[in-house]
Amino acid sequence: MLYNYGSINIDYVYRVSHLVRPGETLSSQSFTQGLGGKGANQSLAMARAGGDVTHWGRVSQNDRWVLEILNQAGVNTSLIELTADASGHAIIQVDDHAENAIILNPGANHGFNERHLDALMTSVTPDDWLLLQNECNALASIMTLAARHGMRIAFNPAPLGANVHALPLELCQILFLNRGEAAALAGLDEHAGVAELMDALYQRLPEVELVLTLGRDGVRYQHGAQRLELPAFPVTAVDTTAAGDTFIGYFMAARQRDASIETCLHEASAAAALCVQKSGAAPSIPHASEVAAASRD
Ligand code: ADP
Repeated sequence: MLYNYGSINIDYVYRVSHLVRPGETLSSQSFTQGLGGKGANQSLAMARAGGDVTHWGRVSQNDRWVLEILNQAGVNTSLIELTADASGHAIIQVDDHAENAIILNPGANHGFNERHLDALMTSVTPDDWLLLQNECNALASIMTLAARHGMRIAFNPAPLGANVHALPLELCQILFLNRGEAAALAGLDEHAGVAELMDALYQRLPEVELVLTLGRDGVRYQHGAQRLELPAFPVTAVDTTAAGDTFIGYFMAARQRDASIETCLHEASAAAALCVQKSGAAPSIPHASEVAAASRD
């Protein structure tokens, strides 16, 4: 089983002529509400890839529609807690030039406590994977507890925050990093070269599998002496929202069925390349049949 201890956000998106100024009251041209959050996106991607995924999360009892979307995609939602506190949410303004400004409120995503974590661990077995992003609280506790239960941990420290430096990253089996996250963890400048980044991360975390995604420049993988490099699929990107989430979901679903690392990277890259050709988050995450067709091309 793939368990995803992941955020669930409601995205409130307002189209505006310009980003609201201090003291101004502005009418929006349109409004949409949708499911977001890196956790929910990655669960959707894993399920669409055919993975066996259970989401561990918290969302307001007033937002049950979220469970329907996840269920329909094949995500097991039985361990999502319906809360009295507000759901995590993002208030997103998008202007006529596609610039955006976002207020993020973690809400229920930051309401985990030790009692929740112990309860979650009752169902796991040592073969299970635990996937984490950086949008829920109590990450150090859940990593420690999961490692004690023999779970294999995969962590995507996004969005990057100062808290990440204090986490027991050596307990992770896999780290998924983009260039900015890799530079911060390596303690290097964001303009550092890829080889330099990988070397510094390897020095710090020699046992961990490192997956470095580089946007249109593809992906690098390193585990001990094993180093792999895969170019991105040559496509024209229209919106890179959820590209990283799609990549991680497809990688983990392939990994769950014990595919080779080369296959994991190839399927994840094919899926992410399909994602960047569509707008939006959840709607742009492709289905396995589309990825299979793109992989053959
Ligand atoms: P994040 O969105 O987390 O910053 P990246 O930008 O590195 O992550 O993108 C994740 C993956 O999405 C890349 O490794 C690549 O496979 C795919 N991808 C992103 N941008 C493009 C692009 N312009 N063309 C093709 N694939 C892309």
